[in-house]
Amino acid sequence: MEKVDKIYFDIDGVIRGTASPKEDIIALLRYCLDNYPGAVYWLTTHCHHGVNHVNFALSGEFPDEFVDELYVKVLPTDWEALKTEAVDMDSDFVWFDDNLFETEKMILERNYVLDGFFKMNPKDSEMAKKALAFLKGFEK
Ligand SMILES: [Mg+2]
Repeated sequence: MEKVDKIYFDIDGVIRGTASPKEDIIALLRYCLDNYPGAVYWLTTHCHHGVNHVNFALSGEFPDEFVDELYVKVLPTDWEALKTEAVDMDSDFVWFDDNLFETEKMILERNYVLDGFFKMNPKDSEMAKKALAFLKGFEK
């Protein structure tokens, strides 16, 4: 993978409920919004079954204007049982998540795209910084 077409974000354990400082998480999201406009997606239980509750989930986590911006600019996905239903297997994607089900892992492997999964460790205070450094390694 040499480029990134799409970026998927989980919320819990990735941008909320993590040891990473808020400013690092905002810097990561800011970088994605600025460099990958129209290519950043939610992949979270706060946005599935066709309903986007992300604004409620993030309320109070970040400044209101930033929550509003995320709600408008990060695109919703629709999935039911497995997040992989919403992943575009034909794209070069990065999927930030703290958890991957065995079935989801098998599906990624079967599509030869497991390298697009980026495991976030909520207990690592450097995690958001590491994720940003990872993204900056790709040409835009
Ligand atoms: Mg999670």
